[in-house]
Amino acid sequence: MIPKTHPRYESLLLRDKVKNALKEGYLADSGMIAHGRGEAFDYLIGEKTTETAKKACEAAVATIYLAKNPVLSVNGNTTALAIDEIIELAKATNSKIEINLFYRTPERVEIITKMFKERGWEKILGGNDEELAYIDNLNSPRATASEEGSYTADVMLVPLEDGDRAEILVQNGKKIIAIDLNPVSRTAKMSTITIVDNIVRAVPLMTKIANEFKESGKAYDKEFLEKIVNNFSNEENLKDSLAAIELK
Ligand code: ATP
Ligand code: MG
Repeated sequence: MIPKTHPRYESLLLRDKVKNALKEGYLADSGMIAHGRGEAFDYLIGEKTTETAKKACEAAVATIYLAKNPVLSVNGNTTALAIDEIIELAKATNSKIEINLFYRTPERVEIITKMFKERGWEKILGGNDEELAYIDNLNSPRATASEEGSYTADVMLVPLEDGDRAEILVQNGKKIIAIDLNPVSRTAKMSTITIVDNIVRAVPLMTKIANEFKESGKAYDKEFLEKIVNNFSNEENLKDSLAAIELK
């Protein structure tokens, strides 16, 4: 048990979740390395959502609302850190959820499938029982694609993604929204919209924005949504994210 008074309580809690995911068998060991890299960048931005990240979240939500077939892609880290938050976002934005693992094994897929089902999310795509297609030009088990999900998706949220998958998804004509604490990763640069923030903060913020847009009717105002998207430059946003890193 981590004492609540510990100055790094939140961070240690996340670390614990990732460690448990490894023990439970659905996270690859390299997922822990990815988490460590994320922690370092989170430290540098002060472990809070910047105004820059908030702008990216708004553009992301607008993009999802304009999509025909939006899909939220989940891996081991995402499941460990934000499974409930992802389900909430999918509900708020009417998106599908699909499993995609860098180191795909039937066991890992089975555990993640079960975790989503236990939380009432029955229709998880990319599972073991589905006959999967493959994303072109990506020659690995992580190229698996559900026909009704990532294969035909026009917009995809890919938290904690690897650079070459992000690049190939973009080449396949998809709008890619990344959540990545590293503003200079290939994923961050390749994606259509990059949210430089911790997934545990970014996803709930997206849900909040999505619900606000619904309540105000803006979610159904195509012109409003398009304006947000058109005013967003990922290049500029990444520059601002980099500037938010303070070395004191
Ligand atoms: P790329 O292939 O895009 O250049 P990489 O190979 O350096 O990136 P990967 O291990 O492929 O990195 O992906 C993990 C990414 O996820 C890292 O950039 C890391 O900063 C980021 N990350 C880790 N934990 C979190 C988190 N909790 N929230 C958001 N991003 C995170
Ligand atoms: Mg990589």
